[in-house]
Amino acid sequence: MTTEPGMRYEPWRALALWGEEEAAAALEVVRSRSLFRYYGPDLGHRTDAFERAFAELAGVPHTVAVSSGTAALTAAMVGLGIPEGAEVIVPAVTFVASVGAVVAARGVPVFAEVDDTLTLDPAKLEELVTERTWGVMPVHLANVAADMDPILEVARRHGLRVIEDAAQAAGVSYRGRPVGGIGDAGAFSFQLDKNITAGEGGAVTVTDADVYDRVARYQDQGGQFTTSKGATRGTADHPPFIGANLRMTELTAAILSVQLPRLVPLCKRLRDVARQVRAETAGLPLQWRRLPDEEGSGGDLTFFTESRLEARRVVGALTAAGIPAHTMYQGQTVTSNRAVREGRTPWGVAWERPPRFRASEGYLGRSVTVGLGAAMTDEDVDTIVATLRSAWADAAG
Ligand SMILES: *Cc1c(COP(=O)(O)O)cnc(C)c1O
Repeated sequence: MTTEPGMRYEPWRALALWGEEEAAAALEVVRSRSLFRYYGPDLGHRTDAFERAFAELAGVPHTVAVSSGTAALTAAMVGLGIPEGAEVIVPAVTFVASVGAVVAARGVPVFAEVDDTLTLDPAKLEELVTERTWGVMPVHLANVAADMDPILEVARRHGLRVIEDAAQAAGVSYRGRPVGGIGDAGAFSFQLDKNITAGEGGAVTVTDADVYDRVARYQDQGGQFTTSKGATRGTADHPPFIGANLRMTELTAAILSVQLPRLVPLCKRLRDVARQVRAETAGLPLQWRRLPDEEGSGGDLTFFTESRLEARRVVGALTAAGIPAHTMYQGQTVTSNRAVREGRTPWGVAWERPPRFRASEGYLGRSVTVGLGAAMTDEDVDTIVATLRSAWADAAG
C-alpha cells in the first residue's frame, strides 16, 4: 500500500498516531546503549515486556518476539515440528510471505480457494488433504478472521496442525477468541502496513510449552542466549538443534510497546466506521465481503462489484475523491506470482504448477477495498458514502 498524492488521509493504520511517544521510547533505548535483547550495559528488558503484553492481548500463555511476520510463521512451523517436504494448505489469496514461510520451513505449499470472506473456504479444504498434508495455514486477511471453527473441525479430523497467519489481524478476534490463540500457533507482523508497526517486526503466539520452547530456541541460534547457558540448550526430552537468528531488537520492542495499548481502540474505531458506511450505503448494488465474525473484525471495507470493469471504475471514483482505494492484490491470486506458479524455491523447483483458482480470482478481480486510516474524520466517512452513492447514480444516469 502506498499513499498517492491528493489523498484525504493516509491508509496506514498505525502511523496516524505515531509521534513523540515513539521518539521518546526509542531515545531511551539508544541512551541505554543496550539494543540487544539478552544483555547490555543497561538492559531494559523491553522485548521481554513486549512479549508478556502481547501474549496477554492474544490470550495465550506465550509469545516469542521475532524480526518479521515471515520469520514468525517460519518459527511457528519449526516449533510445531514440520517434517521436511510436508504439505501445508495455504489460501490462494494471501501475501507471498505465507508461501515463503512454508518454503523456509522446508515444507511444500498446497493452495486452496477462498470464498466471499476472502479467507480459506472451509468447504474446499478437505478435498486437498492427502497423506502428505501436515498443516493448514488460514490467513486472517485485512482485519477479518478466517472462519476458524469449520477449519479446525477438518484439521482435527485429519490430525493437521493449524498455523494462523495473523499478520494482517493484530487486535482481531473470532467468536470471542483473539486470533493467534485459536489454532496451534499464530504469527503476527509489525511491518509498516500492519495494525501496529516498528517498520519491521513479528511475533509468534503459542499455547503449548514445548512448542514455545522450540520456537524460542529456533529464533535464537538453537538457544544461544534464550537459555544463556549453552549446556542447557537441550535436555533428554528435547535434544538441542541448530537454529537461526530471527531476534527482535530492544528498539523495535520499545516502539511496539508504545503502540500496543492503541490497538484495541483503533480496531473498534475502524469497525464502527465500516459499520456506518455499510449501513449508509444499504440499497446500492454492491455485495459486501462476508465477515465470519463482524463483532471481532478490526474494520475492513471491502465489497464486490458486478465486474472487473466496474471495480476499476469505483476505485477510480474513490481515489478521485481523495479516498485511498484499491482492488485487493490487483485482482491476482498468490499463485499468479511467477515464482509461486513455477514452484521455484532457493533449493530448486519444489512443486508443479498449481491449478487456476477461479472462485478466488472472481472475488479478487471484482473487489474494491476502501483504505481505512486511524486519523479518518467524520467528513472522510461522509465522503466515502457520498462517492459510493454517486458512483452508482452516475452509472444509472
Ligand atoms: C505482511 C504479511 C506477512 C509477512 O510479514 P512481514 O513482517 O512482512 O514478514 C505474512 N502474511 C501476510 C498475510 C502478510 O500480510
